[in-house]
Amino acid sequence: MSLRFKKIAVKIGSNVLTRADGTLDITRMSALVDQISQLHKKGVEIVMISSGAVASGRSILGINKKLDVVDQRQLYSAVGQAKLINLYYDLFREHGITVGQILTTKENFSSRRHYLNQRNCMRVMLDNKVIPVVNENDTVSVTELMFTDNDELSGLIASMMDMQALIILSNIDGIYNGNPADTASTVITKIEKGQDVSDFIQSTKSTFGRGGMLTKTTIARKIADEGIDVFIANGKKDNMLLNLLDKKAEVICTQFVASKDEVSSVKKWIAHSEGFAKGEIHVNENAAKALLGEKAVSLLPVGVTGIIGDFEKDDIVRIFDEAGKLLGVGKTQYDSEKAREISGKKNQKPLVHCDYLYLE
Ligand code: GLU
Repeated sequence: MSLRFKKIAVKIGSNVLTRADGTLDITRMSALVDQISQLHKKGVEIVMISSGAVASGRSILGINKKLDVVDQRQLYSAVGQAKLINLYYDLFREHGITVGQILTTKENFSSRRHYLNQRNCMRVMLDNKVIPVVNENDTVSVTELMFTDNDELSGLIASMMDMQALIILSNIDGIYNGNPADTASTVITKIEKGQDVSDFIQSTKSTFGRGGMLTKTTIARKIADEGIDVFIANGKKDNMLLNLLDKKAEVICTQFVASKDEVSSVKKWIAHSEGFAKGEIHVNENAAKALLGEKAVSLLPVGVTGIIGDFEKDDIVRIFDEAGKLLGVGKTQYDSEKAREISGKKNQKPLVHCDYLYLE
């Protein structure tokens, strides 16, 4: 078998791992573990992002209507994650493979230092042939700073670990060009950069997970633009992973084709940091034009019309044009006080250097 990729992130959704009654589908898990083990033995580096903690906890404890939503999530995930990782641990052990657990929160991506710590942890695991099994730490991650869903988390991980592909396994064959329930609809096999598929996206959420097609598509596009191929495929179908990686096999799924542009590691981090922005920089028309032009340029103080919020040097800031449209995010070279002082002035060092600027 000739493989298409050597480094992949595989996201397994709650709906793939659970049966209709909400219990963990151990047969399915075992089949996925078999496939991942085969790929691992062929030298493919794999990071798994697995949902299913909340669903599994709920099925163990039963629904307690007296608890509010946050309490339920904390309780179910604490119990369910233990069950989930134990199962993975035992199933992989059958193949002589060791897995390790990584529970993370959105805050762990907010500073460059945290980000690099996490990356280092996963790199050490991979270098030592341990498969990282990642999930959001749902027990503590209950604020507004929560990942939209594990699709978002898997995108961050694929980008952070410089993977060649992200495979999002769900219980649907991919993105359809119509209503999936309609027999005339077919799966869109390839989506190129700039291709708009929003008309085809169903807004319904999945039964057991938090995700939906809308976040999957948004994340997939962003990650593909960073040079990583993204696949949305049906994880309930036998041998899906092996077939997807086999150059010769034909698989029905949706691929977001990776852009050829190189994106640096820092830029990748900044691209996913918008949620942590500490302030805003507003720029005039000339500066906006220069930023959006063909050439990579830095944001100079001369084009700045306003600074909003208090921030430190190296914080992430959002950049807006005159009409209030978000142009991008960047890492600032000055704190907000200094930035205000030099706004509109000529011959100053860049406020955001082009190496630390990510435009939408
Ligand atoms: N982290 C959640 C869990 O393991 C799943 C989030 C999602 O559905 O995307 O239960």
